[in-house]
Amino acid sequence: MRTHKGLLKLSVENPECFWAEQARRIEWHTPYARVLDTSRAPFTKWFVGGTTNLCYNALDRHLIERAEQPALLNISAETGSMRSYSYAELHREVNQMAAVFVSLGVKRGDRVLIYLPMIAEAAFAMLACARIGAIHSVVFGGFVSSSLASRIDDARPTLIVSADAGFQNGRAVAYKPMLDEALALATFAPPHVMMIDRGILSFEQTAQRDCIYQHLAAQHVDALVPCVWLESNETSYILYTSGTTGHPKGVQRDIGGHAVMLATSMALLFGAKAGDTMFTTSDIGWVVGHSYGVYGPLIMGMTTLMVEGTPLLPDSGHWWRLVEQHRVNLMLTAPTAIRLLKRHGTQFSAQADLSSLHALFLAGEPLDEPTAAWAEASLGKPVIDHYWQTESGSPMLALPRVTTSSEDHLPRKIGSPGLPAFGFKLKIVDQQTGLECAAGGRGILTAEGPLPPGCLRTLWEKDEDFLHSYWSDHHDQWRYSTFDYAVADEDGYIRVLGRSDDIIIVAGRRLGTREIEEVMLAHPAISEVAVIGVANDLRGQVPMAFVVAKSEIVQHPVSRLRLEKDLIQLVGAKLGSLARPKKIVFVDALPRTRSGKVLRRTIQTMTKNVEKDEVTNELNTSTA
Ligand code: AMP
Repeated sequence: MRTHKGLLKLSVENPECFWAEQARRIEWHTPYARVLDTSRAPFTKWFVGGTTNLCYNALDRHLIERAEQPALLNISAETGSMRSYSYAELHREVNQMAAVFVSLGVKRGDRVLIYLPMIAEAAFAMLACARIGAIHSVVFGGFVSSSLASRIDDARPTLIVSADAGFQNGRAVAYKPMLDEALALATFAPPHVMMIDRGILSFEQTAQRDCIYQHLAAQHVDALVPCVWLESNETSYILYTSGTTGHPKGVQRDIGGHAVMLATSMALLFGAKAGDTMFTTSDIGWVVGHSYGVYGPLIMGMTTLMVEGTPLLPDSGHWWRLVEQHRVNLMLTAPTAIRLLKRHGTQFSAQADLSSLHALFLAGEPLDEPTAAWAEASLGKPVIDHYWQTESGSPMLALPRVTTSSEDHLPRKIGSPGLPAFGFKLKIVDQQTGLECAAGGRGILTAEGPLPPGCLRTLWEKDEDFLHSYWSDHHDQWRYSTFDYAVADEDGYIRVLGRSDDIIIVAGRRLGTREIEEVMLAHPAISEVAVIGVANDLRGQVPMAFVVAKSEIVQHPVSRLRLEKDLIQLVGAKLGSLARPKKIVFVDALPRTRSGKVLRRTIQTMTKNVEKDEVTNELNTSTA
C-alpha cells in the first residue's frame, strides 16, 4: 500500500503510471491509446483516443447499484421548497431535457448558455449538454446584462436556458428583462431562448425565439437520449473568469481528464465514498459549483445538495440544520461565508447534530486563522483549506485525506493549504530572475507543464491568449503562472500570499480591477481612475477607487457626494454588487512611473491614510 507521500511523488515523477491507475475510476466507452501527449506543449492532451461521456459517468453507470439513492437534493430557502431526485429520477429528467435540446437543434459542439439560479433544472441542463456533446457555458445568475452580453458574444450559443426569476436577499429578481437587455446589447443573436417557468414572475416572450421548457418537456416524457461518446480532449464546458485585460477569459475544460481528476480528487483529497452526501454551497455559476456541486459528487455516486439562498436565510442555523437533516458528510464553502456566520455566533451550530460531518472544506480565497479556529471550535470538525483556481478545476494545494496506513497522516499547518496536489509540479520562482526560491523565499507560484488532467486546455477560441497569458518557456521547460505570490517552508508546505496581478478576490470572487476601472471611466466626469483591493474583515478584500475628476465638481461636497454615488451605482449596475467600490477617494493625479504606468504599490500605501471602513451590507446570494 502506498503512503500519501509515495502517491504524491508518483504523480509527479511518473504521471503516466499514476494517471493510468486513476483513469480506472471512470468508465470509458473505448480505451485511450496514450495517457499523455505533450507533442504540442503546453497544449496538453490526456487519455488520447479514449471516448467517454461525463453524463454517463455521473448518472447511467450508477443505475444498476444506486437507482433509488438520492442523487440531487434541491432546497430553496427562498421559496421553502425541497425537491429530491434519485439517480433514476435524475436520469429521467436529464434525458427529457436532452430530448428538448435535440428538438431545438442543439448538436455536438454547439454551445448552450445556462443563466439560471440554483434550481435543479440548472444541473439537468449541464448534464443534458454533457449527454449530447454540447458545450455548456454557465453564467452566474447574479450577473448583469453587460457581463452576460459579452459572454453571449464570445460563446455564440445555439440556445440560452434561463428562468423567470432568482432571488437576492429574499427578494425575487426578474431574469428575463436582464437577459433581453443582454440580447439587445450582444451582436450575436442566439436562435433559441428557453425559459424555465418557476411561476414566480411573469415575463415577456419574443415570438420564434423564446419557448417555455415545461411546454416542450411534456412532449418528451420518458425520452431516452443516447450518450454521445466523445474523445477525451473534446470540450465539456467553457467557464468565464475575470482576467486582467478587462475582458473575461473563457476557461475551456476537456472531458476524460476532467472526469478522472474529479473522481481522483473526490476520493483522495476529500476522502469521499459512493453513498456519501456532499453540500457544496457555491453557486453553479462558479467553478466550485461545477466541480464539486454537480459533476464530482455524481461521478462518485454520492448525493449532492444544491441550495438556493444565503447562509443567513432564514437564519444563521439554516446550513447546520441541513447538515443534520440530510446527514451531510462533506461540506465545501468559502471563508467569507464562515466569516459571515461567525458574526452571528455559535448558538445554531451548537444545537445541530453534526455527527455525520467528516470535515468542512474551504476554498476560493485566503483562509485567515481566526476564521479557521472559530469554525473548528464551533463545529468540532477539521477545517481544511484548499487552494485552487477556475483554471485548475480542482485543488492545486491540499493534503490527501484518504488514509492508506495508520502512520500516513501528513500534518496540517496553520496558514497553509498544504502540499502540491496530485500531479502538480509547483515551484515558487523569483519574479525577476525566474529562478526557484529557496524555502522561506517569496516568489510567484508556478506549475511546470504538463498540468495534470482536468486543468484548462486553452481559452475558448483564443489559443494565443492562453499561451501568452499563462505560459513561459524557461530553458525548454514550460511554466504555468498562477499569478499568486507564495512562500514554501522546509517541508514543502506552501502559503499563498495574494495576487501579483490586477485581480482582487472579493468574498471568494475574482474581479479584474481593469474591468471596474473601464466602467468608471465611461462616466463623463472622470478622467483617470485606479482601482485596488484593500483588506476587509468580512469579504477578505474590497475594491477601493482613486479617481481624478475632470472638473471642479469635486470641490463642492454635495456634487462630489453625488458623483461618488453615481460611480458606485454605475459599477454595481454593470458588474454586480461585489464590484462596487467600498470607498472612492478623489485625488488630483495618480502616481505614475516615467513611462506612465500607474504605481499601484504607491496607491496601496496611500490606502493606509484613508480612514478604515467597514462593509456594512450583508452578503447577498452572490457571496455564498
Ligand atoms: P478563482 O479562479 O475565482 O477560483 O480564483 C482563484 C484565485 O483565488 C487564486 O489564484 C487565489 O488568488 C485565490 N485563492 C483560491 N483559493 C485560495 C486559498 N485557499 N488561499 C489563498 N488564496 C486562494
